[in-house]
Amino acid sequence: MPGLYIHIPFCRAKCGYCDFASAPATAGEIDVFLEALSREASAYAGLAGSFTTLYIGGGTPSLLSPPQLEKLFSVILGLTGPLGRLAESTFEANPESLDAEKAACLKKAGINRISLGLQASQDRLLKRLGRVAMSGDFLKAFALLRAAGFDNINADLMCGLPGQTRKDFAESIDWLLKLKPEHVSFYALEVHDGTPFSADGVEEEPEESADMYEEGAASLTLAGLSRYEISNFARPGREAVHNLNYWEQGEYLGLGPSAASYLDGERRANTAGTAAYLKAALAGEEIPRQYSETLSGRKKDAERIMLGLRKTSGIELPDHIFIEFNEELARLTEAGLLERSGSRIKIREDRLYVSNIVFREFV
Ligand code: SF4
Repeated sequence: MPGLYIHIPFCRAKCGYCDFASAPATAGEIDVFLEALSREASAYAGLAGSFTTLYIGGGTPSLLSPPQLEKLFSVILGLTGPLGRLAESTFEANPESLDAEKAACLKKAGINRISLGLQASQDRLLKRLGRVAMSGDFLKAFALLRAAGFDNINADLMCGLPGQTRKDFAESIDWLLKLKPEHVSFYALEVHDGTPFSADGVEEEPEESADMYEEGAASLTLAGLSRYEISNFARPGREAVHNLNYWEQGEYLGLGPSAASYLDGERRANTAGTAAYLKAALAGEEIPRQYSETLSGRKKDAERIMLGLRKTSGIELPDHIFIEFNEELARLTEAGLLERSGSRIKIREDRLYVSNIVFREFV
């Protein structure tokens, strides 16, 4: 059964490293976007009732006002039915735009998981990243979510930041762990063309990031959050169901600018341009695509391996895939990167930080 992803392409300000489809909204733009989203959603009425998870991401969905959230949920509920029926419904938020009224509104709508952006606990690093919220704002937002009754909260962290030491990263993790989040995701900084970081000549620090990754993973595991995917850690039973579906090559529908879908063997993504998205959706035309590709045969099997190997438990494969990728799998096993047990393969836990080497074999 498919997951439903909704992309909200607005943020209060653009972070220096950000490559996502997001920008500050112009006057009235959010309302126009919600109308466009409603039109896009109506094309998928045939899938209504079939979704098992929901993820509202962006951008910064918490930027929407309570009336805008109500409009958003009226569109979503038309596809999902009451959110209480779903296995999980996640809402991404940033501290600067969250308040008690919005938290209550999310709770009332049936949202049962919040993903809150932190990135680092040091305000000097947050300023360098161009983040709007400082660590004190995160503390307040976290507390108001707990007060509103949310018992499943993810926090995002980043490593390999300019000016960030290993001690800083360890401190950020300890700082966050005091709040007892149910889930933590952390990612190494990637510098993308066209971002202010790229223009400033900021460089990625893969070796420093790998050390931070390993040390961070050890601290989180010690605190009872198990690593279940390369970058994701959870308390038992709090693994992200929506994301697990991606890594298991399950189907999903994405709505909004840049949103990706995988349905009926076709992988595709909407245009990342909000203006082009709005124009097409409001005219009732098909949304322009960034790409569209039908996966089958070897390509589909290769993708299944790459996605499945992101999970620390690895992936069970049928015999024909072992035969099809015999050479690649043998090479990676001999190199000490993969382990096989019966029909299951996985990346060795102490080699997860070089998972890109593994994935390159299947591209
Ligand atoms: S809050 Fe997230 S989506 Fe928005 S600009 Fe920053 S990194 Fe990008």
